[in-house]
Amino acid sequence: MSGGGQRNKADKELKFGTRLLHFGAEIDGQTGASSVPIYQASTFHHHDIFNPPQHDYSRSGNPTRQALEDYIALLEGGVRGFAYSSGMAAISSTFMMLSAGDHIIVTEDVYGGTYRLLTAILSRMNIESTFVDMTDLDEVRQALKPNTKAVYMETPSNPTLKITDIAAVTSWAREHGLITMLDNTFMTPYYQRPIEQGVDIVLHSATKFLGGHSDVLAGLAVARTEAIAVQLKQLQNGLGTVLGVQESWLLMRGMKTLEARMAHSEKSARRLAEWLYAREDIKAVYYPGLSEHPGREIHERQSSGFGAVVSFDVGSGERAKTVLSRVGLPIVAVSLGAVESILSYPAMMSHAAMPHSVRLERGITDGLLRFSVGLENIEDLIFDLEQALLFE
Ligand SMILES: *Cc1c(COP(=O)(O)O)cnc(C)c1O
Repeated sequence: MSGGGQRNKADKELKFGTRLLHFGAEIDGQTGASSVPIYQASTFHHHDIFNPPQHDYSRSGNPTRQALEDYIALLEGGVRGFAYSSGMAAISSTFMMLSAGDHIIVTEDVYGGTYRLLTAILSRMNIESTFVDMTDLDEVRQALKPNTKAVYMETPSNPTLKITDIAAVTSWAREHGLITMLDNTFMTPYYQRPIEQGVDIVLHSATKFLGGHSDVLAGLAVARTEAIAVQLKQLQNGLGTVLGVQESWLLMRGMKTLEARMAHSEKSARRLAEWLYAREDIKAVYYPGLSEHPGREIHERQSSGFGAVVSFDVGSGERAKTVLSRVGLPIVAVSLGAVESILSYPAMMSHAAMPHSVRLERGITDGLLRFSVGLENIEDLIFDLEQALLFE
């Protein structure tokens, strides 16, 4: 620990919200500066050629990025963290642990970009993937092949918020010697810490809730064991998919308010989901906090909250387009997890890369909208959405 004065509690006893502010690098050891310095340098002088500096070249290591990597490792409870230029850079670099001929089992309603990476890019390198409904453990088991090396989870999934039983899939995977990876973007470590349930690698699009302000593109990975960390380090450095120092700093700045933002947005999201659910003109509402959600019980066991993303089906593509053109408060955009609410249209945005028939099979209908609840007053958000839904 480089910062802080006297502490009353042992560091490991600190609650999550306190830890967000007191993560070890919050006070610069040299100057006492109240934030991590931005080391805007690509390379580092060797004072003594026989004693190289801790960091020698910024692709391989930079103190600002290092502070962020240590921060996310601490929050997720892993041994080492890694920061990348985007969520997809984190995911694609991690998939590079696989070799030609390997097979990976993937949750079927995976993020659209991850689907594209697997089906259009890694497939060319002879890395095979099978998409399964991960809420069904039998389907996961049946997908096992002699060349299966990894299982990739996303829970709640995107955009239909299906729940995977993390501990069940992970213990099955371990019996078969498979590496487990989990995209924790929707929950963040505030609500869900998959490493505590045995997951080997946790991934984030930090562009979303961790950054939280729609102003940084970044990805993170955290390794459960040192052996995995060594591999991820080699890949991050070898592929050069690192995050720049300005973004590293901005991301740390955003992460400090993670608890305050998540707690506020989640409370509003619960209200919004219940309000939508009570409406006759809404065909379906997907939110793990609804008592009717089939995965609620499992989700409550493995997470301490339901998050801030609510998906709902307004019945048709026509109506979805009307709502999108009539809402005044949320920005209508790709992305989620920001201080401002974001309304997305998965069929034409995040999941446009998915073939129409596959998309429909996965519940991503033409009437499906995804609402990422921000920090606006919830009464205002509901009033705004209501006038858009009532428009003929
Ligand atoms: C946005 C997102 C990604 C991709 O992250 P980028 O930062 O956009 O590259 C991956 N997974 C999930 C769940 C996402 O929402």
